[in-house]
Amino acid sequence: MNQQDKHLEISPSRRKLLQATGLAAAVGLGGSVVPTQSHARKLKTNAKIVIVGAGAAGLDAANRLSRGLDGAQIIIIDSRTEHIYQPGLTLVATGIWKTTKVRDKNARYMPNDVKWLKKRVVAFEPSSNSVMTDDGQRIIYDYLMVTTGLQVNYSDIEGMSTDLIGKLGIGCVYDNPDHASRTWQMIDQYTDQGGVGIFTRAQGPVKCAGAPLKVTMLTEDLLRRKGHRDSASMMYTPPAKGLFSQPDINAFLKEEFPSRDIAIQWDHPLVGIEPELKRATFKTPSGERRIDYDFIHVVPPMQAPDPLADSDLAWQEGPFASGHWMEVDKLTLQHRRYPNVFGSGDCVGTPIGKTAASVKAQVPVATANLISAIADEPLSARYNGYTSCPLITRKGQGILVEFDYDLNMIPSFPFISPYEQHWFPWMLKDRMLHAAYNAMLRGRV
Ligand SMILES: Cc1cc2nc3c(=O)[nH]c(=O)nc-3n(C[C@H](O)[C@H](O)[C@H](O)COP(=O)(O)OP(=O)(O)OC[C@H]3O[C@@H](n4cnc5c(N)ncnc54)[C@H](O)[C@@H]3O)c2cc1C
Repeated sequence: MNQQDKHLEISPSRRKLLQATGLAAAVGLGGSVVPTQSHARKLKTNAKIVIVGAGAAGLDAANRLSRGLDGAQIIIIDSRTEHIYQPGLTLVATGIWKTTKVRDKNARYMPNDVKWLKKRVVAFEPSSNSVMTDDGQRIIYDYLMVTTGLQVNYSDIEGMSTDLIGKLGIGCVYDNPDHASRTWQMIDQYTDQGGVGIFTRAQGPVKCAGAPLKVTMLTEDLLRRKGHRDSASMMYTPPAKGLFSQPDINAFLKEEFPSRDIAIQWDHPLVGIEPELKRATFKTPSGERRIDYDFIHVVPPMQAPDPLADSDLAWQEGPFASGHWMEVDKLTLQHRRYPNVFGSGDCVGTPIGKTAASVKAQVPVATANLISAIADEPLSARYNGYTSCPLITRKGQGILVEFDYDLNMIPSFPFISPYEQHWFPWMLKDRMLHAAYNAMLRGRV
């Protein structure tokens, strides 16, 4: 262990604190959303339930429904067999974790009594209670749970494609281990050689809004650790006039970035790159601006996956219509026009969300309400908008950001100030949250 990493060692006092908080961490953060109605005994039913998407939310939902129902026919549809621990990708992209740590298998979390159809859904047809799969099957359901996650629109950035990641100074932490490790090759090179580094953020909701910020701050930290900070000029380019939706964290970042000599270029949505010239184009209020770079972290716009976006399940108007997010009631997670349809995870159009922490808070609500719907009882579980992110500011330090729909901070650990950098959020991120996430996939937290 080198001198710089000394402070990452777990001292006896830290070990004590970790042991004391181990239980809370193991159950995951933010036990703030508790369904007000839980079905203590299994509900007998012959309902047919289809879950689309076997990621974080889909596996959690499958396990909860499997445990909560007796006799239901539950089908989960997803062709992907690999499970990726996406919250670990920022650590892969900054050279702290290897990709092996974030690769897993869906099969490990799939309940025995749930039928797994390894297909993609190509169309949602809620008016006929059915979905179409890519092999032409029409699957009819009584109840539908949509957990498809989101789609990253690389082609919205002119000149950008995924095969450029890891070449010509281009990185993108979204949203698989291969992209993250190729991003690390570029960040490793940049932090050796210095030059101009541009760190972008797409317009609209992105999954884990903290990820682009973490990549920026961990790169800055690495430049210092390597002794090359003076040879690098860094800028962060938010698409509007904010860095983070929660006002206290926004205020913190507005001080933190300049204090670390990371220039903030407001109103700079990235619209194009010229890879060979290493030049980025931004659509600013005063016209297009081109900036040359040595390294660029590209964060493309995101939306609901096409089959969902193109369906009547998507918001048709209002703030979530442009991303085609699924139209749910933000408290019950029931579809607002199709009462036998529920959703959770990145695909839903709610004011706050798009983190695994939100999944952990949403899925118990969506599944409890789906079970209530089967039982013909009122839907009484509520999602309060809980989201969380250990906002890593440098290796070994971070801020534990947890807030709700009202943007109120709702800390799970009262002894840790959510306004100060501390080693504990780092420890959570690096050592503890992965286990809590896996327990969530089993529907256990
Ligand atoms: C770089 C990065 C860093 C992150 N950091 C954090 C963090 O620090 N903390 C945190 O809480 N969260 C973090 N997240 C966010 C978190 O990983 C996601 O919010 C979470 O995985 C969302 O779960 P989901 O089930 O909605 O989507 P996913 O886990 O992405 O799963 C969606 C599933 O749906 C399937 N699917 C999609 N379309 C179809 C279709 N048409 N038919 C069938 N199946 C389909 C996909 O194959 C996939 O398996 C991060 C994410 C990224 C990318």
